[in-house]
Amino acid sequence: MISKLPSHIVIREVGLRDGLQSLQTIMPTDAKCAWIRDAHAAGLREIEVGSFVPPRLLPQMADTVEVVAYAKTLPGLQVTALVPNVKGALRAFEAGVDHIVLPISASLKHSLANVRRTPLEMMDELRAILDERRNAGATTRVEAGIGTAFGCGLQGEVAPDEVIGLMETALEAGADCVSLADTIGYADPARVRSLFERAIGLAGARFWCGHFHDTRGLALANVLAALECGVARFDASLAGIGGCPFAPGASGNVATEDLAYMLASMGLPTGIDIEALLRLRGVVASQLPGESLHGVIARAGLPRIAPFQAASH
Ligand code: ZN
Repeated sequence: MISKLPSHIVIREVGLRDGLQSLQTIMPTDAKCAWIRDAHAAGLREIEVGSFVPPRLLPQMADTVEVVAYAKTLPGLQVTALVPNVKGALRAFEAGVDHIVLPISASLKHSLANVRRTPLEMMDELRAILDERRNAGATTRVEAGIGTAFGCGLQGEVAPDEVIGLMETALEAGADCVSLADTIGYADPARVRSLFERAIGLAGARFWCGHFHDTRGLALANVLAALECGVARFDASLAGIGGCPFAPGASGNVATEDLAYMLASMGLPTGIDIEALLRLRGVVASQLPGESLHGVIARAGLPRIAPFQAASH
């Protein structure tokens, strides 16, 4: 089984976007930049630093241009941002973002609630974004992130055929890459295996990332199932920050430090210094008083066995 697993796994930090957008606290720009600096120093090379949405909707993301400008100074960092539409994409191109994610919700109800457009209208948005990129001569990579891929709190079931159909349309439209997101934590490893196998069969090397929320405690199990399908990149958020309006008290994405720990335990390199990540978690936690944090490694500590304990200890 192990030999089938990808030889290098990329963890993409999304706490600054997916996490912070759902908290009450508005983190100051300096603190966000320090977080990015320390995450980069701990070995993370892909960070979703914010989103280009109207500040009146998400005041937590109002400083994304400044945060991107800082992140762009760090060597080798792929600076990612979420954009909900063409307008956001134009701002991202102008800011020099390396990679944008356009969320396309497979659930009609969630899509209307989230971006006030149907999934098919979002495909038109994707085509328009790709046209604008051509016009702007930008090199930003465009990812179509198919969300609520395992169901949705508003609509309930989302048919796998629907998800795969949207992915096919996004690929045909010319998206550079596609991803699957369990936006609200409805997935389980068996359904992950079945949907990701189909998705990778369809997208091949253009399959980009797995995005799992830990709402019901299955995020790591779901990551493992996707890993075994060959997925080599996962979103994660430091301290598992984030939430879900349909599940009070639920966590956000799988905690970055827990995911880095699991992969290191399995001997899968991520290039991440987990102890540095745990120190960073402590700093970020001190800036988010009153917010719920998640994740188990920060509580339990690293085990006193290889590869976590140096031989000289
Ligand atoms: Zn998410």
